[in-house]
Amino acid sequence: MSFEKLNLIKPLLTALTTEGYTIPTPIQVQAIPVILERKDLIGCAQTGTGKTAAFAIPILQILSAEKHSHHQRRIIKSLILTPTRELAVQIGESFDAYGKHTGLKKAVVFGGVSQRAQTMKLREGVDILIATPGRLLDLINQRYIKLDSIKIFVLDEADRMLDMGFINDVKKIIEKLPGKRQSLLFSATMPTEIIKLANTILTHPVMIEVSPEQKTVESVRQGVYFVQKGDKKKLLLHILKSENIPSALIFTRTKRGADVITKLLNDAQIHTDSIHGNKSQQARQRALSNFKSNKTKVLVATDIAARGIDIDKLSHVFNYDIPEYAEAYVHRIGRTARAGLGGTALSFCDPEEISYLSAINKLIKQPISIIDDHPFKLVDIKSGENPADQNKFVRRKGSFGFGKSGRNRSGRSFRKFKAKS
Ligand code: AMP
Repeated sequence: MSFEKLNLIKPLLTALTTEGYTIPTPIQVQAIPVILERKDLIGCAQTGTGKTAAFAIPILQILSAEKHSHHQRRIIKSLILTPTRELAVQIGESFDAYGKHTGLKKAVVFGGVSQRAQTMKLREGVDILIATPGRLLDLINQRYIKLDSIKIFVLDEADRMLDMGFINDVKKIIEKLPGKRQSLLFSATMPTEIIKLANTILTHPVMIEVSPEQKTVESVRQGVYFVQKGDKKKLLLHILKSENIPSALIFTRTKRGADVITKLLNDAQIHTDSIHGNKSQQARQRALSNFKSNKTKVLVATDIAARGIDIDKLSHVFNYDIPEYAEAYVHRIGRTARAGLGGTALSFCDPEEISYLSAINKLIKQPISIIDDHPFKLVDIKSGENPADQNKFVRRKGSFGFGKSGRNRSGRSFRKFKAKS
């Protein structure tokens, strides 16, 4: 299957060639014809599947077909609602890339920054608006934005909207849309509330489902280092210095943790930047673009900040802390192996985190290889055995405890290891 077969117009095909896209991804193959036929759609897909292009390309094609005279002021004809500023910026960049020969104009609005640049852009007139819910409502209330000419509405990452508590804002926005419109809803998971919402906003939707969460991680090589919490820094430096790691995204549980690691690596002459909720939007964008252009080799991030980050050819993801929610692991390691490329995910697991690892193993139903060829490996206090030697993680799910027992962050019991001296 090629993009030509999807009956795309020349300006789009040229842009896709420039982007280096030759074969449409499964969601693109399925969604593009449906959207071009002006049908409503539910897409069950997460980031990394090519879903942005799956809606952006047909929207650009539909809007290109509408005549626009130069004297006419542009009005917003398509609205893409997305939960985070990072996603909004990325979707905006995708529309720019795919739409660069179409003459269509877009604006991106999100909170956390001054609204001035955004309202100036809106005054110039735009065809496509990409927005996060809070700022969009603000600008609607201030009469900078009217939604009464929307022809195509996209609700992106609907489940995430729910998680982040935006669902009421989303409903308020939907009330302001014209009744006659095309609607597309994308969500990685389909909780009941999203299905209910879908039923209220979509008309006879076509349902498309591609690679559920578990599938995406199949192409990622996954390894775990059992290590004492106090040795994690040394282990990280050891790996970054001794292995071939072209680019690494390191996840920490806390913002403070992200800052500590960033300083540690910069002190060790490894160019590193971080993104997390305490950083300004400008600082985050700068960190992201420096990382994408290889000016920095390492980016340290917290889960929320990294959600939706799109970095082509990211080689390694590190879980410096094992996430407490197994789903977060899937999101984290899905940052690598984008669009079918392979990647490596390495996790540092201290004794308190073993139950989290066990939950992850249950969710992904794939073995995570134990890497015990490193200077900081653990040995069991009583028997002197290295837990990794027993290879329990790969073979037997759920029991990785040895030695003395204790309680971890969420109160689950664990047993203690000590590092090999
Ligand atoms: P998304 O799922 O929209 O976040 O896209 C994931 C990544 O895949 C992005 O880096 C896109 O630039 C890339 N991508 C999307 N479609 C294609 C394609 N047909 N061929 C190659 N890369 C693609």
